[in-house]
Amino acid sequence: MSTKNASSAAGRFGEFGGRYVPETLIPALDQLADAHRRLKRDADFQKRFKGLLKDYVGRPSPLSFAARLSGKFKRRIWLKREDLNHTGAHKINNALGQALMTSYLGKKRIIAETGAGQHGVATATACALLGLECRIYMGKEDMRRQLPNVYRMRLLGAEVVGVESGTKTLKDAVNEALRDWVTNVKTTHYILGSALGPHPFPTMVRDFQSVIGREAKVQIKRAEGRLPDALIACVGGGSNAIGLFHPFIKDTAVAMVGVEAGGNGTALGEHAARFDGGSVGVFQGTRSFVLQNRDGQVEGTHSVSAGLDYPSVGPEHAWLYATKRARYLRCSDDQALEGFHLLAEYEGIIPAMETAHAFGVLPQILKKVPKDGIVIVNVSGRGDKDVAEAARLEGVEL
Ligand SMILES: *Cc1c(COP(=O)(O)O)cnc(C)c1O
Repeated sequence: MSTKNASSAAGRFGEFGGRYVPETLIPALDQLADAHRRLKRDADFQKRFKGLLKDYVGRPSPLSFAARLSGKFKRRIWLKREDLNHTGAHKINNALGQALMTSYLGKKRIIAETGAGQHGVATATACALLGLECRIYMGKEDMRRQLPNVYRMRLLGAEVVGVESGTKTLKDAVNEALRDWVTNVKTTHYILGSALGPHPFPTMVRDFQSVIGREAKVQIKRAEGRLPDALIACVGGGSNAIGLFHPFIKDTAVAMVGVEAGGNGTALGEHAARFDGGSVGVFQGTRSFVLQNRDGQVEGTHSVSAGLDYPSVGPEHAWLYATKRARYLRCSDDQALEGFHLLAEYEGIIPAMETAHAFGVLPQILKKVPKDGIVIVNVSGRGDKDVAEAARLEGVEL
């Protein structure tokens, strides 16, 4: 989609973020930014949102001590269990927040994009709960990889539209959703699934996901009597990671490590490691690190996990990277599969393949953590959806 430089000072994280969108979307984004500001302080909205997180999602999610992993690595490893949320991942926190906001805005139609299908399922779930019309855009390649989620969304009453353009993955689904939104902006809200896109999305999604870090902070203080040495999370668009990180940004003794998809090589097109392999650019409404060639043409990406397979990253992460407040590592497809087995065998938790990336490079990350130091790893989602694909990759017939 063509982009126009209509960025404003609002929604900037240093030189990153902003708002690069067609003129027609500005009123909707202004309305949204205004609603976000207002509802943040609206007691009725906050009470309803907290009630849904508690009684429907099942929050607070536990912070579980990983005893066997801790024994293996001689560090105190805690797991923030977003996999135990209703629908099986952190995505529901944001989907419910934005769906509730849509009701407050008086709109009745929701659109969303989805990669792994987790955000689509979370959005379809929130729409069923609140009685909103729902259409989900999903790349055809992702539909193939995540067929059960396609059926789940349809079960939940959503219309799923397959996207045939580009690499038929997440970025192409975002393009289609933006196209729909431009046309139907008066009646429709676009629930973006990660801390990405034009202002106010990165801030708004982060605020809805920050419940992860707020809970974790209280839980770790209660359990260990102090803050952790490091926080670890996988980074696709960056919403589960920023949700965990944000409440700790000012606690500078707490290291923050994001893990990106290293795919199956270091050449452009073989991975989705935006910090290691990308450069600063504008993509889908925001300024951040982008996997692009020398002409600024966005490149295809590859990852074993659909949820990390995206050529750009949330602008607040770009700022955390540029200011060195956070570090970002890459985890290859093969290492992610190792992480998948590691958590399953040592803790009895089959993680989402996205989450498995954080565990694939955990041994490497822990080398920089003092012996008996404390870390929190965000278990962003559960792996039921990935079992068939993992078996296929390992040549196991089901
Ligand atoms: C979507 C997804 C991710 C990646 O998205 P972020 O916005 O980076 O969090 C990670 N883990 C799971 C389980 C997901 O569904």
